Amino acid sequence: MSLRVYNTLSGNKELFEPRVPGKVGMYVCGVTVYDYCHIGHARANIVFDIVYRYLKYSDYDVTYVRNYTDVDDKIINRANERGITSQQLSEEFIQAFDEDMARLGLDLPTVQPKATEHIDHIIALVERLIANGKAYASDGDVYFAVESFDSYLKLSKRNLDEMQAGARIAPGEKKRNPMDFALWKAAKPGEPSWESPWGKGRPGWHIECSAMGMEYLGESFDIHGGGKDLVFPHHENEIAQSEAATGQPFVKYWLHNGFVNVNQEKMSKSLGNFFTIRDILKTYDPEVVRFFILSAHYRSPIDFSDQNLKEARLGLSRFYEGLQAAAEVLAECPPSDVEATDGAELTAKFREAMDDDFNTAQAIGYLFEGIRTMNRLMATKKFRKKADLVASVRSLYDTFLELGKVLGMFGSEPKAWLNQQRLSALADLDITVEEIDALIAERLQARQDKDFARSDAIRDELAEKGILLLDGAGGTDWKIR
Ligand SMILES: [Zn+2]
Repeated sequence: MSLRVYNTLSGNKELFEPRVPGKVGMYVCGVTVYDYCHIGHARANIVFDIVYRYLKYSDYDVTYVRNYTDVDDKIINRANERGITSQQLSEEFIQAFDEDMARLGLDLPTVQPKATEHIDHIIALVERLIANGKAYASDGDVYFAVESFDSYLKLSKRNLDEMQAGARIAPGEKKRNPMDFALWKAAKPGEPSWESPWGKGRPGWHIECSAMGMEYLGESFDIHGGGKDLVFPHHENEIAQSEAATGQPFVKYWLHNGFVNVNQEKMSKSLGNFFTIRDILKTYDPEVVRFFILSAHYRSPIDFSDQNLKEARLGLSRFYEGLQAAAEVLAECPPSDVEATDGAELTAKFREAMDDDFNTAQAIGYLFEGIRTMNRLMATKKFRKKADLVASVRSLYDTFLELGKVLGMFGSEPKAWLNQQRLSALADLDITVEEIDALIAERLQARQDKDFARSDAIRDELAEKGILLLDGAGGTDWKIR
């Protein structure tokens, strides 16, 4: 099967055929660097990290561009509030963003350009639009004339006449038509500004992405991604100004990820349900956050809640428990010549899911099946003496590690990882590690004394608190239910 992707532009899943066979150019809108990133940013960046990784895994040569918007009203306002320059503020939050993405385990894009380093390209693009009659200068500002671009709103499928009727020109805007948007803004006192043919000023937001996308990927490229909230106006305006300048289709496939709700409500600062990545990583392991996000299809909304994060932790723990058990068993079983196809079969299913518009939810479902198969094989009587079964487990185990890399998961040392999760989860329960250890020791003594009533009572008492005892050859261990 070949990769198919849902293209917002056509509203359909389409066969993915990059413009140049074997090569992919992909641009994803980065953050406006004026504050710490929240769970919505985490989702968008993890989703496109997976797209990037899966394309590389599928042997494409990918150029991935993700920008920083480092000049913007929000940056200027926040910097003024804090009495620092826009540049100081944006540098602080570029660093914070990089740290957050590294902690979430994201692969670095090929290029991470800053808008302020591309002012010349932006000015050249604006000049080209004016020369084409698609934009006009007005008292130091430059606006794009939306009525000059016939297919305006083709991405969002909105109606220009209806929007026009409801739109108003804001005070201070010097445009002809309420739907026209700024390509260049004349400098106001105290704002960062650059020399231009229209006087000192700074770029509008939309034009930055067109200029940087074209600079690194050419006038037409394969994939442009971002959150659903960017479809209008940002991506719509990117299309208009790029295609009006070049006369060519700007992007072949437009990919958009769904929203993150918090406890089934829209996330917003005013509702107080706003979580930064830093807050979340104080409680949850980065891989748990990844697992939570990838457990849903990227276009579906997801609901961020403690309960859902806890379930993700439990789900990912099942994988690590299986991997730990397999690693221990395989270390004791010498390699044999027996070949097994289990891993190849699992890989085929995984690819089928991912080829269907990056369906990570389905792919993880198949991986769960694989873990269950592996556990069942290892529980077979005299398993270690059955070379074919050992070969099957080895083949599955190796496949988990390989496919885990595509999802950015399963890369930790299982025992240490599980121990850490157990301690995190214990924080929610009404019991400490010391109390559990003391009860296990007391139970051991009770069993030696043949006081089975007491031994059972201890097991029940722990079970009631959510602790499950695991009796093994090396003694009694425990896990959280
Ligand atoms: Zn953008």
